[in-house]
Amino acid sequence: MLQTHGLDAMLFTDLTNIRYLTGFTGTDGALILFEAAALFLCDSRYTTQAIEQVGGDVAEYKKKLPEIVDHLKQDEFIRVGFESSVVSCSEFNQLKQAGRADIEWIPIEDLSSLRLIKDEAEIALIEQATLLSSQAFDDVLPMIRPGVSEAEIALALEIAIRKRGGEEKSFDFIVASGERGALPHGVASDKKIVSSDLVTIDFGGRYRGYYSDETVTCAVGEPDQKMRQVYDIVLEAHDRALAQIKPGVPLKLIDAAARDYINQSGYGDYFGHGLGHGVGLEVHESPRVSPLSKGLTEVGMVFTVEPGIYLPGQGGVRIEDMVMVTADGYRILTRLSKSFCRLN
Ligand code: ZN
Ligand code: ZN
Repeated sequence: MLQTHGLDAMLFTDLTNIRYLTGFTGTDGALILFEAAALFLCDSRYTTQAIEQVGGDVAEYKKKLPEIVDHLKQDEFIRVGFESSVVSCSEFNQLKQAGRADIEWIPIEDLSSLRLIKDEAEIALIEQATLLSSQAFDDVLPMIRPGVSEAEIALALEIAIRKRGGEEKSFDFIVASGERGALPHGVASDKKIVSSDLVTIDFGGRYRGYYSDETVTCAVGEPDQKMRQVYDIVLEAHDRALAQIKPGVPLKLIDAAARDYINQSGYGDYFGHGLGHGVGLEVHESPRVSPLSKGLTEVGMVFTVEPGIYLPGQGGVRIEDMVMVTADGYRILTRLSKSFCRLN
């Protein structure tokens, strides 16, 4: 990375990247990467933890940014990279003011490639996250019935995920029933489920830093004919996208496989978002899978496939799985069945 960008040093302050590179799980710290060495810095709250987790050179700071710069001043580093998407304007000014005038601060925009390919250990943690999420979903399945509110289901699911060993919910769960299903990001409300509702539940949990993300849409009672058809269209779009996945495929073609089918079915105006996103130490990370995606799939990438159709005033369906690209195709990492499911 230093070579690619022609850097003498790279400053990391994004805690997710720092965790990925060092194993440090605290909530404040910095990492300076040189060509032949690396230095981890934190305040006194984290020194003991950092010595254990990072294992390399650890320095303590009292005033973070000026003292980071002190370590750069001592040598002849001229070109120093920083993560331009996480360093604020005011932090950048502090870095500039604290440094030698001749330090050239190089904004590094796209660090996505850093965490793009998951190794076996990471996949194992992701699979643990998807496993405990699906177990939690099974735990709460009996309560998905008329008269229960979306918020009650979301809370029960969160508790079940924690009980199953999840560290945290992946995000505020989406539980969107009936007409509310038309809101792609309809966070659980007080609305009670009524018979004939489709209920979209988008949820996940974190396990040792790694997230899961999965969406199930199920029917409570008999749904109306049209929404039942919409379900089949979304499922077919999901399956067609999966069928495209193998190494070396343009990510936008995977999106297109689902999108073209939804277009042909007459619902193109009602699928507004991209098909999927990477998942790892962040619940939304690279790669993006959308009509704008530029890259190709590679073995070890993990991303979601989540087509949806959202009909204002009527309802919606989304179906989401996490997949990993393998040498001969793909493997689904999430576990819940996506066949049409009617409860009660
Ligand atoms: Zn999701
Ligand atoms: Zn997602």
